[in-house]
Amino acid sequence: MNDESVQERRSVLKTILRWVGLGALAISGGALLRRSTAHATVWQIDPRKCIGCGRCERECVLNPSAVKCVHSYAICGYCDLCSGYLETYAAKRDMAAENQLCPTGAIKRTFVEDPYFEYTIDEKLCIACGRCVRACEQYGNGSLYLQIRHDRCLNCNRCAIADHCPTNAIVRVSADQPYLLKDGEIKPSSSVPKKTAPKKPAKNIGGGL
Ligand code: SF4
Ligand code: SF4
Ligand code: SF4
Repeated sequence: MNDESVQERRSVLKTILRWVGLGALAISGGALLRRSTAHATVWQIDPRKCIGCGRCERECVLNPSAVKCVHSYAICGYCDLCSGYLETYAAKRDMAAENQLCPTGAIKRTFVEDPYFEYTIDEKLCIACGRCVRACEQYGNGSLYLQIRHDRCLNCNRCAIADHCPTNAIVRVSADQPYLLKDGEIKPSSSVPKKTAPKKPAKNIGGGL
């Protein structure tokens, strides 16, 4: 084999190696990107640990807090005597401000059919005080609970609420599944955990006061 053909073979070999190297880089780069996305996490409240202590209202760096009350319609009893909606010693079961437990009127009560009522949260008004959460957990089905809303949360390096939470309920979760919903439904970060289509409950399984 003469010098010229040896040089030519080397040059072809070099080109092949270069393309193989670029291919490997592209594959490992893609894998790295996939891995970093898969490992992206955000803060969330574990509703099994949260006791609605009220610190979520006070400790978030945002005012109003990025934490909001959400409602699981699958768990709710649609009770007329709703412990999360009515003050404990409410004179009447109606929508008068003095009879409502929520200090900002963020819970809306709508008649479905006798004796059922549907409860929805107006997030703009919710300040994450946790009063409805505690009452619903204590006397009802626990369908009202708190979640960090990712259309507001700044995803701080260290959530300011986590340092004050008495039950270590603030946890990191995958950004792909940023909500810990009681009925197991996972919503994308941009969407609001909200009510499903109005339904007629089979029976009133909700607790009362
Ligand atoms: S500070 Fe913890 S226990 Fe208190 S309301 Fe927030 S998440 Fe729940
Ligand atoms: S009682 Fe507190 S936590 Fe519940 S909806 Fe009203 S402001 Fe939000
Ligand atoms: S991460 Fe920051 S903005 Fe989000 S809930 Fe915690 S303190 Fe508030």
